[in-house]
Amino acid sequence: MPDPSAASTLPLSILNEVFGYTAFRGQQADIVEHVTAGGDALVLMPTGGGKSLCYQVPAIARHRQGRGVTVVVSPLIALMHDQVGALEEVGVHACFLNSTLTQEDTQRIEREMMAGRLVMLYAAPERITNIRFQAQLASLHERGLLSLFAIDEAHCVSQWGHDFREDYLQLSLLHERFPDVPRLALTATADDSTRADMIERLQLQDARVFISSFDRPNIRYALVEKDEPRKQLIHFIREEHEGHAGIVYCQSRKKVEDTASWLTEQGINALPYHAGLDASVRQRHQDRFLREDGLVMVATIAFGMGIDKPDVRFVAHLDLPKNIESYYQETGRAGRDGGEADAWLTYGLADVVNQRRMIDESPATDEFKRVQRGKLDALLAMAESHDCRRVRLLAYFGEASQPCGNCDNCLRPPATWDGTEAARKLLSCIYRFWQHGQQRFGAGHLIDVLRGKVTDKVQQYGHQSLSTFGVGADLSENQWRAVLRQLVALGHVVAEGEYNTLALTDTARAVLKGEVQLTLRESVEAPKRGRVSKGGSKPAGGAVPADLVGEALQRFTDLRTWRAGVAREHNLPAYIVFNDATLADMARVAPQTLGELGEISGVGAKKLQAYGDQILDLLRA
Ligand code: ADP
Ligand code: ZN
Repeated sequence: MPDPSAASTLPLSILNEVFGYTAFRGQQADIVEHVTAGGDALVLMPTGGGKSLCYQVPAIARHRQGRGVTVVVSPLIALMHDQVGALEEVGVHACFLNSTLTQEDTQRIEREMMAGRLVMLYAAPERITNIRFQAQLASLHERGLLSLFAIDEAHCVSQWGHDFREDYLQLSLLHERFPDVPRLALTATADDSTRADMIERLQLQDARVFISSFDRPNIRYALVEKDEPRKQLIHFIREEHEGHAGIVYCQSRKKVEDTASWLTEQGINALPYHAGLDASVRQRHQDRFLREDGLVMVATIAFGMGIDKPDVRFVAHLDLPKNIESYYQETGRAGRDGGEADAWLTYGLADVVNQRRMIDESPATDEFKRVQRGKLDALLAMAESHDCRRVRLLAYFGEASQPCGNCDNCLRPPATWDGTEAARKLLSCIYRFWQHGQQRFGAGHLIDVLRGKVTDKVQQYGHQSLSTFGVGADLSENQWRAVLRQLVALGHVVAEGEYNTLALTDTARAVLKGEVQLTLRESVEAPKRGRVSKGGSKPAGGAVPADLVGEALQRFTDLRTWRAGVAREHNLPAYIVFNDATLADMARVAPQTLGELGEISGVGAKKLQAYGDQILDLLRA
């Protein structure tokens, strides 16, 4: 490890000395070099790819060159405390300015900033347009102390994106006022329209664009048919993720509440999170999720952006996301640490119908709805696909790939069947309803008629007389639901109105006429993976690397206990003190000297100085 007093401005030395890492990953080195030299950049990198270092290392390098303060624009006030805490832990002088601070703190931070002592200042986008803040930036700029703008979660500027924020539109101001200050925009969203929008709105036409692969190989994708979702969920958690941290996404606030209490009753440590909860409750739940091991957060999509907890082992969806980008973003919160993680989704006919309806009934323009429908179609196609999920996911982002071997379809190729005849029966039954009484009906009645069930409703409408009555007795109710779901997903049938009554679309005609062949998925259960280790019963909770046994396991457990104490004292999540991978390395290597300890990945100069002796004592004991 180099001598910290030498205060090198070389990116690699900074990576080593400050962060304790030996090498840059992927495109980090190129990005850091380009930005440190004063170039503009747009960085598209998946979650967990290491975006933070792309601006933190240039910020440190440029500060050491005497260029002053880097302003980091981040939409996540609720996370700024931890982000800044992580930097202070590695000895980088960073602060945040937001509405939660006292006047005294604000003044202190402003003094640090104006003196150019701060390396990084985190601010929410609304602050950028604040007159007072603008004047402060101008003063810094005049004195050559405005080093760099880093715009995190840059996709928030795009209306096509899923997290559009009005305030982000104002960020072009930075470029207009301070055209010579380099800018770095970062996002984990990569679809084409969002990308083009970001470049235009942030005026990044001249920026160098760095695009990483969006593959997250450690995430296993599974999309299972909804049967009894709660049972399926609890089964999934118990079988695969007992004692692990995870996120369960639901669409409505009520469902979030209900699911969280139900999981709690089942003995799972779960908390709710949605926009209807008090801000203080939300913050408390978020803090607990970040700070405690093995907690399950049941949430609406209000939760998750910027959550950098590395050991989220699963993301489960009880409802269908809006589109592939949302699905990718939400599932991407699993496995940031590179360890095995699951993205598990359960969906059924109602999900398909609801998502379509939400678009139809939204007040948006026709153009916007058209785009949204296209995006939903891509997701539905992926849900109904019989081939590799990852290939489809990556193809959506313009990346070609080979079957991954780590998704449900690869691991257990679903059986398919020729559903052309079944589809024709179903479609013609909908057609006969209309012909018979100019009426539309929902899924339940349709399936009763197909299966030849004489119900009150069948008698009331005289539907026994239809030519389609009983033509589908060979398939079960569930099988018919699956056929209908796939027909809705494919856009041949729509469900409309308060009662979700079914109608044919224009494309149904070709199917009815037998001009189109339909290969449908047969229902299968998601494959299980044999977990090497499970937390819960292990001493400190959370997952334990399988290779740690005997004394090494004991050391790991002791290190975790020690880490929990430090984290509490500093009011930070444990992984900010040291992440699990670093602790596991310490437990394996059992370093005896500060020099040896400093060699471990994730141990930089400041942490070595602050904690080195305590850790060595603990390891010797
Ligand atoms: P992102 O913001 O892109 O989701 P992060 O910046 O949070 O990703 O990085 C994800 C994890 O990878 C963090 O724990 C980070 O410390 C680690 N990491 C990033 N770059 C490196 C590197 N070059 N060497 C070792 N660890 C790294
Ligand atoms: Zn696959």
